[in-house]
Amino acid sequence: CGIVGYVGPRPSQDILLAGLARLEYRGYDSAGVAVIDGDGALGMRKKAGKLAVLRDSLKDAALADGNTGIGHTRWATHGGPTDENAHPHLADDDKLALIHNGIIENFAALRDELLADGVSFRSETDTEVAAALLGREYRNNGGDLQLAFRGVVNRLEGAFTLLAMHQDHPGLVVGARRNSPLVIGLGEGENFLGSDVAAFIEYTRKALAIGQDQIVSITPDAVTVTDFAGTPVEAEPFDVSWDA
Ligand code: GLU
Repeated sequence: CGIVGYVGPRPSQDILLAGLARLEYRGYDSAGVAVIDGDGALGMRKKAGKLAVLRDSLKDAALADGNTGIGHTRWATHGGPTDENAHPHLADDDKLALIHNGIIENFAALRDELLADGVSFRSETDTEVAAALLGREYRNNGGDLQLAFRGVVNRLEGAFTLLAMHQDHPGLVVGARRNSPLVIGLGEGENFLGSDVAAFIEYTRKALAIGQDQIVSITPDAVTVTDFAGTPVEAEPFDVSWDA
């Protein structure tokens, strides 16, 4: 139900958890984060329950921190509120993480296709199907995350805000939206994504709107927005003027 993404020089876990806390007002039943750590390995922690459950778990057993991360609060639609069904969902031998708000209407047909291809699933969610599809596209195209992500969003029906990252591409978070919100927060040498500006308002008041059926890539120094065909589009700047 809430989404936050970060790329920049700072350790990302606090930024993700603070962003998710600011999105708590929307309601949720589970929370999770994934981070690409300093050694370039992807780590992930997700828990059913309040953010405090996730926070306590990270206190009990720290997750190596790093400068690229995504965080999610879930409002379950497909599969109950369990740890396994919480996001992020992983693929490509747990090197890739994906989070999703919304509902993927054609997930059953896509899951059947992937099952026939030998993919196994760990959750009951529609979301894991998108993660598995991304993993397969990524392997099939020789490791182009942006191209793979574009291939995936073009096969999905329904409503989705998606963010994904891969440990072989530290400093890159890709996102897309259809019938579900996503905005960019512009920083100095760092950039943010959020399902609304509350996700990053602590760090920047400069934002870019992402239009319907658009894809975004953020790195610490650059933001690229395209349509689902990959054609660059101009994102609309806006100032976040309200008080958080
Ligand atoms: N449909 C997804 C799920 O049930 C995402 C729900 C959400 O928007 O949080 O896991």
